[in-house]
Amino acid sequence: MGAEVQTLKGLALDISLEYQGIDSQMEELCKKSCISCTDICCVRATVWYDLKDLLVIYLSTGGLPGRQIYRDEAKACCHLTASGCRLPRSERPFICTWYICAEQKKLLSPSSVPGPSLSGEIEKIKGLRNNLETRYIAFSS
Ligand code: SF4
Ligand code: SF4
Repeated sequence: MGAEVQTLKGLALDISLEYQGIDSQMEELCKKSCISCTDICCVRATVWYDLKDLLVIYLSTGGLPGRQIYRDEAKACCHLTASGCRLPRSERPFICTWYICAEQKKLLSPSSVPGPSLSGEIEKIKGLRNNLETRYIAFSS
């Protein structure tokens, strides 16, 4: 039982590190696109933490977000600030990293952002998250 908990924690830490690994590339992409965006996705989209998000956060940090994500008075995501998202990438819902808008896709093809394939890295995180959830469900049932 203890060994499986350690495995789950190790997986969550790996995912957190993967998020950190793509953060500068994502930030670079945002600097080139979000700064001039007139239809900001964090205003228009409704996002929330799912089980996988909460597992990653809890098992990698030992704590949970204070509350579920909600829309503020201006109907935007409660974590959106004038300078972008206030949360570290590993503590945002995965969809906030997974979503590459049309403008950003144009910038990535052909890639003008240095580094490994961003979509490949995001798929890797997706796979690790699925693995974490599957193992957690098997462990807790
Ligand atoms: S990710 Fe795309 S849609 Fe969202 S704010 Fe940036 S440019 Fe706009
Ligand atoms: S958590 Fe951050 S990135 Fe995700 S919608 Fe809210 S402000 Fe945007």
